[in-house]
Amino acid sequence: MLPYEANRATQKTPVAVISAEERIKGFDEVIGAYTKEQAVNEARRCLQCMKAPCMQGCCIKVPIPDFLAAVAKEDFAEAYRLITEVNVLPGITGRVCFTDEQCEGHCIRKVTGDGVAIGKVQRFVADWAKENAVNIAPADPDEQKRLAGKRIACVGSGPSAVVCAHELASMGASVVMFEANEQTGGQLRYGIPTFRLPDEILDYEYRLLDNKNITVVLNTTIGQDKTLVSLLKEEGFDAIYVASGADKPNMLGIEGENLKGVVTSSEFLTAVNTLQVDSLKGKRCVVIGGGDVAMDSARCALRLGAEVDIVYRRSLEEMPAHAIERIFAEEEGVGFKYLYNPVAVVSDENGEVCGIKCDPCVLSEPDESGRRAPISSGKPHEVIPCETVVLAIGNGTNTVVAQSVPELDMTKRGLIIINEETAMTSVARIFAGGDAVDGPSTVLSAMQAGRLAAQGIAEYLAKM
Ligand code: SF4
Repeated sequence: MLPYEANRATQKTPVAVISAEERIKGFDEVIGAYTKEQAVNEARRCLQCMKAPCMQGCCIKVPIPDFLAAVAKEDFAEAYRLITEVNVLPGITGRVCFTDEQCEGHCIRKVTGDGVAIGKVQRFVADWAKENAVNIAPADPDEQKRLAGKRIACVGSGPSAVVCAHELASMGASVVMFEANEQTGGQLRYGIPTFRLPDEILDYEYRLLDNKNITVVLNTTIGQDKTLVSLLKEEGFDAIYVASGADKPNMLGIEGENLKGVVTSSEFLTAVNTLQVDSLKGKRCVVIGGGDVAMDSARCALRLGAEVDIVYRRSLEEMPAHAIERIFAEEEGVGFKYLYNPVAVVSDENGEVCGIKCDPCVLSEPDESGRRAPISSGKPHEVIPCETVVLAIGNGTNTVVAQSVPELDMTKRGLIIINEETAMTSVARIFAGGDAVDGPSTVLSAMQAGRLAAQGIAEYLAKM
């Protein structure tokens, strides 16, 4: 017997989405929010499963059935309390997590229709808390004394570092967060367009850093301005959490990719998100890549006035972008050229980019991993005319931080190796997590890494 009146609808409660014609006029959020009635209606689709398979798809283990029950009973404050006990960025994750593959992908309701729209209900709860100025509950007083007198440095200010800093500060430690950029947020601020994550939501949830135990130091690159060793030896920190992320762009290694007019997706999205980009009206832009970042880049270029094509060397079937992001891009007018392998950026007599030369491909038979590789079809190369090229072919880890400590064990790919139980690296008192350890990953797994590291640091310092 459910503790509320069940909603037996097999399909999700639909949410408003701005029309493609409207949304390309600016950078406003594309997916609308549930109203109170819609959120309650959707929460009432939850069957309160004993084993809650949805939670298997949530690495930070939000108590999904419990918070949905609270929403179903219109107790939004309780829902917020339950969510934020484990997820202190609910409005952000309610927007940027691809919940259809995470919690919702495991929902039992999928057997007969759609999974419960857990992410959208969570987003409603977070927005309700923002509107009603409901705050995250403080840690209990004993917990707040646990690390009193300890000083910890956090490197980076993405979700992993923020969760770690918040947990350590809640235990009474003094945390100093070092961020290389002018603002906090990492990829959340600089890598995700505001039509997916508005600054207002990011800034609001980052108020976690307005804590007497946390100091944020901006424009400071660890590995250049200071080193990990100097933080420990000269500045007297008891421990360091390295969450420096993965923002080093991969390059194609093709002729002409260093020409003016060719930018990486990191550079492009940072410029867009910091309003430092010129109009692309009347220009043609080619985005190379097939992931979500390629979709974000293409949709931004479109909003800046360009005619945009995405060039991807495999077919639609292999495209790694989430379907919803590709569909949004298609609806907005982005063109897609599949099975084109870029071989050179072409310039005119003035050295300006005027096109990208591509080798038309076919797919090989699947290899051992089942993946089909693009191979030349033998047809003549084609030049796609464009004035701007955005390379969106993935990022590697930022190795500047870690390379300042030669004793730090790293993989050949430049990922920091940690003890998976404690998050400590091969160097005592230096802990690490997030994309610097795992490579580019989800916001939730970065947050989980920050929490694991906070526990590892607390337990380590308790023994000192
Ligand atoms: Fe509710 Fe779906 Fe989780 Fe079951 S699996 S508890 S129906 S959200």
